[in-house]
Amino acid sequence: MSKVYLTGAGPGDIELLTLKAYRVIKEADVIIYDRLANPEILKMSKNGCEFVYVGKEDGRHIMPQDDINETIYQNSLKYENVVRLKGGDPFVFGRGGEEAAYLQERGVRFEIIPGITSAVSAPAYAGIPVTHRGIAASFRVVTGHESPSKKTSQIPWENYKTDDTIVFLMSLHNLSKISKKLIEIGKPSNYPIAVISKGTTKDQIVVVGTLEDIVDKAKDVPTPALIVVGQVVKLREQLKWFET
Ligand code: SAH
Repeated sequence: MSKVYLTGAGPGDIELLTLKAYRVIKEADVIIYDRLANPEILKMSKNGCEFVYVGKEDGRHIMPQDDINETIYQNSLKYENVVRLKGGDPFVFGRGGEEAAYLQERGVRFEIIPGITSAVSAPAYAGIPVTHRGIAASFRVVTGHESPSKKTSQIPWENYKTDDTIVFLMSLHNLSKISKKLIEIGKPSNYPIAVISKGTTKDQIVVVGTLEDIVDKAKDVPTPALIVVGQVVKLREQLKWFET
């Protein structure tokens, strides 16, 4: 009886893959993978393993989510060991929940293999701890996909006045609107913010600035990238380790 493994590929650095993910990848008959999953991981599979690409390019879906769900399902009818490989963690803005529900409704067995999310690991490789005693007692991971100027926002902006860390994923295209919105709710214009591009990889770029100047400073930064807002950004000065 076949099984689908909804598997986190980690943020980029291939060694940030879990042992469990490594095991199912080695045993996979087919791997259905995303743009954000490091393609080097595919080389760990056995001979004859099939690869199916269902990624997105600059936010533009190569394949709509419904078709991805159906592709996973069809592969589960054909193969014993199906790996659905997703960047970071499958349940952190990975739509892994939708894929799991689709399989559950069709009686297909599945397992979730969590991965190291970029939301925490890219800041870590930038020398930015998302929490720090006396500085940030919590952190939030927020979608930056939705425009902050949207009238009926699902994001509780008013709650973001504190010094707790905010990590915005899928956010680079809204950087200007996000920084404006944070100033609008009362953060000072010199408040610390960082943009981390291609975190945990050899191409990692970290740009540190303020809510006022970050748009200018980060204008040429490539995706995938995330935004970190909070006093913890200042710790990078002392804790940066990856680039040095
Ligand atoms: N499930 C993934 C997130 C998917 S949403 C995870 O847990 O990491 C896609 C967003 O993740 C991108 O728009 C970007 O904001 C972020 N992202 C993924 N990999 C990244 C990386 N290596 N460096 C910086 N941001 C990354």
